[in-house]
Amino acid sequence: MSTTLFQHRDYRKLFTAQVSALFGTGLTTVALGLLAYELAGADAAAVLGTALTIKMFVYVTLAPVVAAFAHRLPRRSFLVTLNGIRGAIVLGLPFIDQVWQIYVLIAILQAASAAFTPTYQAIIPDILPDEHDYTRALSAAQLAATMETLLSPMLAAAALTLISFHWLFVGTAIGFAVSAALVLATRIPHSTATAAGSFRDRITVGLRIFAATPRLRGLLGLNLVVAAAGSMIMVNTVNYVRDTLGGTQSGVAILLAANGFGTMLVALALPRILDRTDPRPVMLTGATALVLGLAAAIGLSTAGSGDWRWTAAIAIWALIGAGTAAILTPTGQLLRRSAQPGDRPALFAAQFSLSHLAWLLTYPIAGRVTTAAGFTATWITLIVLAGAGIVAAQRLWPRHDPAQLTHLHEIGSIDPARLLDAEQVDATHYRHTHPYIIDTDHPRWPTRRELAMAA
Ligand SMILES: [Zn+2]
Repeated sequence: MSTTLFQHRDYRKLFTAQVSALFGTGLTTVALGLLAYELAGADAAAVLGTALTIKMFVYVTLAPVVAAFAHRLPRRSFLVTLNGIRGAIVLGLPFIDQVWQIYVLIAILQAASAAFTPTYQAIIPDILPDEHDYTRALSAAQLAATMETLLSPMLAAAALTLISFHWLFVGTAIGFAVSAALVLATRIPHSTATAAGSFRDRITVGLRIFAATPRLRGLLGLNLVVAAAGSMIMVNTVNYVRDTLGGTQSGVAILLAANGFGTMLVALALPRILDRTDPRPVMLTGATALVLGLAAAIGLSTAGSGDWRWTAAIAIWALIGAGTAAILTPTGQLLRRSAQPGDRPALFAAQFSLSHLAWLLTYPIAGRVTTAAGFTATWITLIVLAGAGIVAAQRLWPRHDPAQLTHLHEIGSIDPARLLDAEQVDATHYRHTHPYIIDTDHPRWPTRRELAMAA
C-alpha cells in the first residue's frame, strides 16, 4: 500500500469505514458460533454451517444485483443506512433464544453486508480517478477482506479471555457505528455512472479472463482448498473443543487464536519472499500445508484421549492458518498480473464471486456431515475436495508461467498499429513478444503448439 493512496483523505476515511464494518461482521461470526453452541449444543455445527451457507448464498446472489444498481442510489445515505441496519441486528443477537431466529437475523445482516461491499467498490473509482491508485485500492480491499476472515477469530479469541461473548456483539455494533460516522464524514461525489458498464457485463468479462488464463484456472482449484480447510476451522472448532476435547469457551478461543497466529506469521513474512519467488510454488506449498493439516486433523479425530491432543490441535490449527495465508496473500498480485487495468475491477469481482461459491459448497458439508456422521467423515469429505483442488491447480497452472510470451497474430486479425515490435514471419503471421494478458486483441491463451510455432 503506497503512502500516496492513503494521502487521499476521503479514500482513507472510506477505507477505514469498510475495514471497521468488515471486522464488525467478522466478530459477529465468531460470537454467533458460541451462541449456536449455547442454543444447539452438539448440533452447533449444523446451525453454524447453515448460518454461514445463508451468508454465502446472500453474498453470491445479492451483491451482483446491488452492484448493478449502486450508481443510481443516493450512495452516502445508503451506506449509512446499511450500517445502521447491521448495528441494530447485532444488538438483537444476544436476545435470541431460538435457532431459526439466528437464521433470519443472519440473512438480514449479511444482506446489508452484501449490499455495502459493491456500493463501496463503485464509489472508489469516483474518489480515485487515477487508474494506478484505483488498482492499488482494489488490492487493499481484497487484502482487508482476507485479513478480516483470518484475524477476526483471533481478535474475538483475545476479547473472549476478558469478557463474555454477549459483549462481543456490543463491540461489533460499535464497529458499525464508527463505520457509519466515517461514511458521513466522507465527501462522496455523484456517480459518474455508465463508465464501467453493468455489473453483469463486468462479471462476464471477469469470468472470461478467469476461464482463459491458466494461472487463474489454477487459482480456482486453490480457492476450493482454502474453503475446504477454512470451513473445518469456522464450523467445527466450537464443537470439537467443547464436545471432544472437553474444553471451554477459552479453549475455543485458544484454537482460533492459533489459527490466526499462523496466518499472521505467514502474511507478514510473505511479501519479502514474493519479491524473489514465483507465486506458484508459494501457493502450492500453502495448499499442501492445508491438505496435511486436514490429514492430521483426521488422525486426531480417531485418536484416543489425552492432553497431548490439545498440543496437536493447536499445531494443526496454526498450520491451517499458515497455509491459508500462503494462498491468499499472493492472490491480489496474481489477479493484477492477469488483466489490463480497465478489466481489473471485473477480475476482482469475479474472484469475489468464485471464492464465495467454493465456501457455499464447503460450509454446508462441514455443518451437515458433522452432525450426521461426525468429525472423521466430515474431514475426510473435506480433504477429498481439497485434494481435488490441489490436483486441479497443479495441472491447470503450468510450472513454467512467464509473464512475457512470444506469440503469433494472424495478419488481418489485428490492427498493425497495435502490434508492438512485430515482425512478419510468413505470409499470414506476425510475431512479437510482450506480457501476455487476455484482452480484445488476445481473446484466448495460445496453445502449446502455437507457442512452439512462434519460438
Ligand atoms: Zn500480442
